[in-house]
Amino acid sequence: MDVLQMYRETGALHEGHFLLRSGRHSPMFLQSVTLMQHPLYAEAIGEAIGKLFEDVGLEFVIGPAMGGVTLAFVVARALGVRSLFAEKDGMGGMYVREGLTIRPGERFLAVEDVITTGGSVQRAIRAAEAKGGVCVGVGAIVDRSGGKADFGVPFRALTALEFPTYDPSDCPLCRQGVPLREI
Ligand SMILES: [Zn+2]
Repeated sequence: MDVLQMYRETGALHEGHFLLRSGRHSPMFLQSVTLMQHPLYAEAIGEAIGKLFEDVGLEFVIGPAMGGVTLAFVVARALGVRSLFAEKDGMGGMYVREGLTIRPGERFLAVEDVITTGGSVQRAIRAAEAKGGVCVGVGAIVDRSGGKADFGVPFRALTALEFPTYDPSDCPLCRQGVPLREI
């Protein structure tokens, strides 16, 4: 599966000059929500990630809202398990709302579209663990961590990409005068 091609086909791969949330500048970014709005693409992504974890044995999939909701759903659909999501708690962490029941000891897979530092998927893991879940894996569409993401459980992604990012004080795109867009 050519994941990058799917991003490109759906207009979810942006090229230019972008100010990332980290403060660094990048010639490229992936807007997964643009890709995942297409059910057929989303379903194919879900099946492919599901295959990476079909040997693991788990009871549910969880993703951080909002970006991880659709992804968790399609992966859970592929694996034949439940789909949950974690939400921001307004205090820098995440929680799993009432009605999304987790039984103590239930094994789960956490998913996120693009993992750079893994911060939000980590918060979703903590939220599910707080209700008694046991994380057995982390799945992603794209690993942008450069091999640095470590969750203490198997981490598998459909593809690994390393885009260059630049310090604003030393950015070739700034020097060329390419207009900067905030994302
Ligand atoms: Zn720049």
